[in-house]
Amino acid sequence: MKKILSWMLLFSLTSGTAQPIPWSKIRTPAPGPAASIGSAANGCIQGAQPLPARGTGFVSLRRHRNRYYGHPQTIAFIRDLGRAVAQHEGASLLIGDLSQPRGGRMPSSHRSHQNGLDVDIWFQLTHRPQGAARRYPESKDPPSMVRADGRSLSQHWGKAQRFLLYQAAMDPRVDRIFVNPAIKRALCRSEQNRKWLRKLRPWWGHDAHFHVRLRCPKDSPDCRRQAPIPKGSGCDASLAWWFSEEARHPKKGSSKKARPTLPAACRRLLH
Ligand SMILES: [Zn+2]
Repeated sequence: MKKILSWMLLFSLTSGTAQPIPWSKIRTPAPGPAASIGSAANGCIQGAQPLPARGTGFVSLRRHRNRYYGHPQTIAFIRDLGRAVAQHEGASLLIGDLSQPRGGRMPSSHRSHQNGLDVDIWFQLTHRPQGAARRYPESKDPPSMVRADGRSLSQHWGKAQRFLLYQAAMDPRVDRIFVNPAIKRALCRSEQNRKWLRKLRPWWGHDAHFHVRLRCPKDSPDCRRQAPIPKGSGCDASLAWWFSEEARHPKKGSSKKARPTLPAACRRLLH
């Protein structure tokens, strides 16, 4: 009997049917010094820090998702942006997802946010941080900054939102920021100095929140940086494409990419 069991065990180990533990089931950060490993879309993080539920100029929403962990640089960035918003606008940021305690793939919502360097921030600010978490449950997102036609800004957009993006884009720790194409185009049209718009990358969605991705920190040699953003402000044909028929009605199911292999250093964090 014992022999059969050990054979079965051997079989299950070698046949590759053993499912790895999902990252979302891990409740604690990996011990050790902070290090982002791999890329935003295929990575993990060691020594992640939790973002507190509240601080000067920020409040973190939907804590039950347990996606409020990040590299200390991400936490510091949020704190600094929060302070700037408190001072300049007398309001607080609504912070969405960062990463899971050890990063990795999430079961829903995002492909990225895996190595502790991504954070979603709602465009809407709040003057009542206490109770904000209750006012915005999963079923109720803060408002969109883009009208239903997908081409122009809604009445919720204002100077405060421009300030947020400007402040984040000017931060040297920030690599890029994903925003809805309509937001980028509106800024391309209104800004005198378009230099800072370079970091704003048009992407689907991102009309109620923007997504900040930080650069690989110095303490993270295994962090994989995304290909650099092309030169220039991006207020060009590449932006115009987003308003074409092709972009607005993408053909479905043509590109089913295989899942990339997880970096070896991340596999170790799963144990
Ligand atoms: Zn995001």
